[in-house]
Amino acid sequence: MSKKEKPLLEIIGVDKYFDQNQVLKNCCVNVHSTETVVLIGPSGSGKSTLLRCVNMLAPPENGDIFFDNKNISGGDISPYKLRQRIGMVFQNYELFSHLSAAENIMLAPMTVLGLNRIDARKQAEQLLAKVHLQQRSEHFPDELSGGQQQRVAIARALAMKPDLMLYDEPTSALDPEMIREVLDVMAELSAEGMTSMVVTHEMGFARRAANKILFMEDGEIIEQASANDFFSSNVSQRARRFLDQILH
Ligand code: ADP
Ligand code: MG
Repeated sequence: MSKKEKPLLEIIGVDKYFDQNQVLKNCCVNVHSTETVVLIGPSGSGKSTLLRCVNMLAPPENGDIFFDNKNISGGDISPYKLRQRIGMVFQNYELFSHLSAAENIMLAPMTVLGLNRIDARKQAEQLLAKVHLQQRSEHFPDELSGGQQQRVAIARALAMKPDLMLYDEPTSALDPEMIREVLDVMAELSAEGMTSMVVTHEMGFARRAANKILFMEDGEIIEQASANDFFSSNVSQRARRFLDQILH
């Protein structure tokens, strides 16, 4: 990847308010194609809101966001079209409980993209294999563990062939023994070149998969470093203190 290449996602001077409360302050981030960017920071610092700005679930008041050269905050692309190109995975997987794993994955490609049932099924089986759940296609969400459900949710997002994946604390609702299996899938996707923004405090994942790490506090991105710099203690006191807290 050449550094001169235009970023896939460019967040420029974004401010976000909820009423009088400014929760994002002049945020600037570039994400190049194939990069994985990890966002860390205390609760309430604006991490989820920043992700939600990217798919226009929380449109910013000031600043611009470009995605694939389209000014998404300026209306160059509808939120509906945008969300077809950006996959999002939440803390609480939110699978449809009345649909099997395969059907959860087939739904959007069939209803939104018009894929036929046979092709949608074939794709679902491939995606389930990709998230290491090839034997689980007929299982319903309540027959799957939390870690398995989250991997189905990742496969469901991938079924739309997104250009960008957003993960908002994807493992924080999981029991410790299931965290690893989800992070492994995410790291494999990153290694294959899936462009990603990930809110997580799993520093092992960040070390393994992140190209860049952002540290947010009080609505501001106060640190933005390559993963190498970040882990070689080349960070601010504040970020270091936060890291020490989450690591111990
Ligand atoms: P984080 O994900 O880092 O914990 P959030 O982005 O969820 O932080 O929240 C940032 C700030 O914005 C918090 O003070 C939170 O209370 C506030 N906030 C988030 N969503 C809303 C909303 N829909 N309405 C009002 N305030 C909100
Ligand atoms: Mg959050």
